[in-house]
Amino acid sequence: MNYRCAHRWAFPKWGAALEETAEDLAAAASHEVTVRITHCGMCHSDLHIQAGGFDMGGGKMSSLERAGTKLPVTMGHEIGGEVVEIGPDVKDVKLGDKVIVYPWLGCGACPVCERGDDHLCPRASRNLGIQLPGGYADLVRVPHDRYLVGIGTLEPARAATFACAGITALGAISKLDPLGADDHVAIIGCGGVGMTAVALLSATSKAKVVAIDPDPAKRDAALKHGAALAFDPNAADALKTIGKACQMNIAGAVDFVGAESSSSLAVNLVRRTGQVVIVGLFGGEFRMPLPMFALKSLRISGSYVAGLKELRELVALAQRIKLPEIPLDLRPLASVNQALDDLAHGRVVGRVVLQP
Ligand SMILES: [Zn+2]
Ligand SMILES: [Zn+2]
Repeated sequence: MNYRCAHRWAFPKWGAALEETAEDLAAAASHEVTVRITHCGMCHSDLHIQAGGFDMGGGKMSSLERAGTKLPVTMGHEIGGEVVEIGPDVKDVKLGDKVIVYPWLGCGACPVCERGDDHLCPRASRNLGIQLPGGYADLVRVPHDRYLVGIGTLEPARAATFACAGITALGAISKLDPLGADDHVAIIGCGGVGMTAVALLSATSKAKVVAIDPDPAKRDAALKHGAALAFDPNAADALKTIGKACQMNIAGAVDFVGAESSSSLAVNLVRRTGQVVIVGLFGGEFRMPLPMFALKSLRISGSYVAGLKELRELVALAQRIKLPEIPLDLRPLASVNQALDDLAHGRVVGRVVLQP
C-alpha cells in the first residue's frame, strides 16, 4: 500500500452524498504521524456535520461554514488503526503501533491545549473529521504524536469508538461532584453513550444509578450494566414516580438526549443543590422558570466530548473493568452513504464501524 496517497470519502457540498477522492500526502514532517485506518466509528453528529449545522431551537441552525469549515469535508472522528509513517521528531509512537486517535484538536499551542483540553481551545479548532480530514478514509494524517493513544489488548473496533462516544460518557459523569452511597444519579437516554455512562458510574461511584429511557430493552440492558432502577420517562406521572422511588434524593441528572423534554425532566428531577449536565445534541431550546435557579440552588452545565487525558483514562479503565458491549455493526467504508442513511432513519442498532 502507498502510504503517501489518501483515499477519502468526502462530501463536496453541505448535505450532499460522500464521494471518493484521492490526495497525495507530503512526507510526514516534525511531529506528524500517518495512521492506516482499520476502523472508524460513525457518530450521530456526522449527520449534523453533513447537514452543515445543528438545530439551535426556534427554527435557527448553527453553521459550520460560518464558523470557518471548508469544503470538501471528510468526516469520521472515531479513528483506530496502525502507525505507518512518523515525522523525524516523533518519540511517543513507533511504526506498527496499534492506536486510536484523539480527534478534538485545538490550535495545539495555547495554554488550554497544552494542559490537554484541546477540545476547549479558545483559538482555532482543527478537529479531525470536521476541519481536518477524518477517518472515512484509508489513511489519516495526525498533526502531532501526542494525540495517539495505544490500545494495548483492547479490541480495535471498540476502542475506536472511545474517541467520541466513550469520552463523551466519561467527560459528562466527571462533571458531577463526588457522590455518596445514598445519592442517586439519573442517566437520561440509554443509547450507546448513555449506557456507557451507566456502566462507568456503576463501576467507579457509590451512588445509585437511575436509568431513564422509553425503550424497555434499553432499560433492561441498563439494569444489567449496574443501574439500580430504571424508568420510562413517557409513563404517566413519571416525574413523581421517579422522585418517590429515589427518596427525592437525585443529586445529579445527565441528559444524553439534549431535547426540550429531556432537559426539563432533568432539572425537575434533581434535588436542591442538584447538578444537571446536558450532553445530547438533539436540539431545541432550554426553558425553565428563572426562580428555580435560586430556589433549588441549581447548577447546570454542558459537557462536550472530553480531553486527551480522559481518553487515556478511559483506555486504562477499559482494560480494568467490563464496559458494556454496545453492539457494533461493521461495514465496508465504501457503503458509507448507505450507513449514514440508515443512521438518519433509525435503522442502526448499536454503532456502525466502517472498515476501509
Ligand atoms: Zn461523535
Ligand atoms: Zn489551543
